[in-house]
This record gives sequence, structure tokens and C-alpha cells, in this order.
Amino acid sequence: MKTEKLKSVSPVSADVDIELINQYAEKELTPEEVFCFSMILCDNEVDRDMERFTDESLDELAPLFLGKSVLFDHRWSTEKQVARLYRTFVEKTDEKTLMGDQKNLLRGSAYMLRTDETKELIKSIEGGIKKEVSVGCQMGGCKCSICGDNLSFDWQTGKTLCKNGHLTGETYDGKLCVGDLTDPKDAYEVSFVAVPAQRGAGVTKGEDGDKIEFLKTIDLNKISKEKKIEAVKILQTSIIEDDERNERARILAENKKFMEEK
Ligand SMILES: [Zn+2]
Repeated sequence: MKTEKLKSVSPVSADVDIELINQYAEKELTPEEVFCFSMILCDNEVDRDMERFTDESLDELAPLFLGKSVLFDHRWSTEKQVARLYRTFVEKTDEKTLMGDQKNLLRGSAYMLRTDETKELIKSIEGGIKKEVSVGCQMGGCKCSICGDNLSFDWQTGKTLCKNGHLTGETYDGKLCVGDLTDPKDAYEVSFVAVPAQRGAGVTKGEDGDKIEFLKTIDLNKISKEKKIEAVKILQTSIIEDDERNERARILAENKKFMEEK
């Protein structure tokens, strides 16, 4: 489970995009019938897990998100609502990433129908919403930014490293080692979730493993204090991630039910 703070959600003109929208609509819609907004789905910045999407993976992810649902929590607005991504593109910015590269954003535009039920939600988006976005995708690889080799997680030390011994978060010849997320396999829905501000929103980048199950088997009396602290840290992170995953699953199930009822 990956997290990234939602930077902005802003309204977009439906007049310009109506032809694109109609590629995804069941019946021909007019600009007056829809509300459109744009958001940042992910970028090439290093995240809190010392991983980043490569520029190539952002390019490859863009088409995978097309047509995917954007889900809203009913506890936030009174009804369950669904929007759909109809346009995705990579935006080059003037900013630099932590790694000193040009910062690139994968942006998505979504539309929703203007109805009595969506009125309040549209108002919140127009007013600048405070919720965060959780984006799911499955990535094929995680490579060492120093040597390009595959990275793997070492359960004993709680560290991520490649076979040449480069550890993520460490610096080699002045270069930070991070995990390069490559080869996107699929993109899933986007959800707006209620999560504490300091946690940020989530970008799910694929399989997480079974950290908790593993840590249950560790005899805490037999490992050093440092390793104990590390193990507890991993365990705590996993618990938060599980909560987030359950929350996503709950919202998804709820929205699916809503779509079926319609
Ligand atoms: Zn390496």
C-alpha cells in the first residue's frame, strides 16, 4: 500500500470535454448534464516508502486508468456516488523531485452526472475538497535506482535491498537509492477516503506480502533491541495499511452495490 497526498482537485469545463466523455457514457450527454473535475493520480516523486513511479510507468499507467471509476464515501456526502475517468495525461512541471529530476504528474479528469443526489458533492468539489484520493494499480517491478537490479524486502533486517547490496534510503556516491516502480500491469478504481491528514492518501502499487503473519512468528526475546524496534515499526505500518485496505474494500463494495441498484 502506497500513500501520496492529494495535491488538488479542481473543476474542469464540460463544454470542451463532452465528446471525450460521451465515449464512456451510456447515453449521449450534454455539457449541462455533467460535472467534470481534474485530480493528480500519482507522480514521479519519491514517496514515504522510498519508491517512485518512473516516467515510463506514468506514461504506461495513463491509458490503464481510462474509464475507471472514481468512488466517494457515503459518510462524506449523503448518497453514494460514482464518477468516471475519461481523460488521463502526464503533465510536466517546472518543479524538481527529491532526486533532482523534472517532476511529472499523472493527471486524471473525471465526470459525474448532475443530479439532486450529486448536488452537495459537486458543491464540495467546487469549494476545494479536503478529502484525499486513494489510487490503486499493480506494478510489475521494483528496481534499484542505483544499478537497476530487482529490489527485495529482507524480513530479518526490515530493509529493502538489491543483490548488489544497495539499500533504499541510503546514498551511494551522492545518489539516493530508491525503488523504481516499473511495468504497470493494471490500474484499479480511484477512491476518496477519510484518512488522517498526516497519513496522506494511498496509491496502492500492488501486492504487500504478509508482514503481520511473519512478525507473529518472531520471538521478540531472541532479537536485539534495534531489530525489535524495527519489527514493531513494520508491524505498526502493516496495521495502518490493513485498515486502509479494508476501508478501500468497504467503499468499493458499497459503490458496486449502488451501481447495481441503479
Ligand atoms: Zn542496486
